[in-house]
Amino acid sequence: MNASQIFSRNPLDRGERQRRDETWIHNAAREATSKFLPLWHLKVPVSAKSENSLAWQSFEVLCKLDIEIDPIFLGLMDGEAYFTADISQLGNEAHDLQNNGKWVFEDARSAAELVSTEEAGILCQAIAQINWHNNHRFCSVCGHKTWVKRGGQMRQCPNCEAQHFPRTDPVVITVVSDQGNCLLGQSRGRMSRANTYSALAGFVDQGESIEEAVAREVMEEAGIKINNIRYLFSQPWPFPHSLMIGCHANAVTTEIVKDDHEMDDVRWFSRDEVQLALEGKSAGLRVPGPTAIAHHLIKVWAANEKIIY
Ligand SMILES: [Zn+2]
Repeated sequence: MNASQIFSRNPLDRGERQRRDETWIHNAAREATSKFLPLWHLKVPVSAKSENSLAWQSFEVLCKLDIEIDPIFLGLMDGEAYFTADISQLGNEAHDLQNNGKWVFEDARSAAELVSTEEAGILCQAIAQINWHNNHRFCSVCGHKTWVKRGGQMRQCPNCEAQHFPRTDPVVITVVSDQGNCLLGQSRGRMSRANTYSALAGFVDQGESIEEAVAREVMEEAGIKINNIRYLFSQPWPFPHSLMIGCHANAVTTEIVKDDHEMDDVRWFSRDEVQLALEGKSAGLRVPGPTAIAHHLIKVWAANEKIIY
């Protein structure tokens, strides 16, 4: 089941042992066989032809750009080291790397749909890492400039020695069912214009279990009391660095009292309506596409699949 979640099949060995050795990281980045994924304003290079793969570069090619390259080590595969690096210092996309016309920069979602699920997993890791590093250049304790350590798995402050680790934000996302109906909502914004409804979602709060977060979010957004909360599968989501935790739950109450501040609408939909929407055949209901974990949570419910825990 988990195999269908885009971004979740990263094949790299993250090299926990190797990344503790700064000399190893330095040398590995300069190996001719090492591969670099340069990100330009979080856009990803993808081959322009039909290969539909990430356009990996060498450190030598990146050095020719005449900008500071800070290699972030992603991991190892088949004896080769994989890195990413931010090249946003370049003024525009039409730079030396693109002269051969063999590849183009795509935004992460478009790129993820073009490349293999394994490469989508790698690009998810690269984007989350570069995004975090770009936003944590200074120590949150003393304000001093921080240094990259462990190939990117940490930033350390040389002034107060505080260690800062890349963060992942847990988000619960839940399909609530009541007999043959399921509860879906429209968060404020674009969803209502497209008539799209999705599973209810929200960030896990501090000092809160996954189950407590699910029950709280459903109560806040829809006023529905639930029980029998089950975890199904998860999906890394690099916008900017979340982990989507997919759940199902059963309704104890059915009267909807929506949060007007967060939600444009919340409704019960029948299994038939949802099945049509999943097939793109419903006039009144759209659900998120297969890139989103919500699609798969809704699909499992619509198919009435037995979940094995
Ligand atoms: Zn500090």
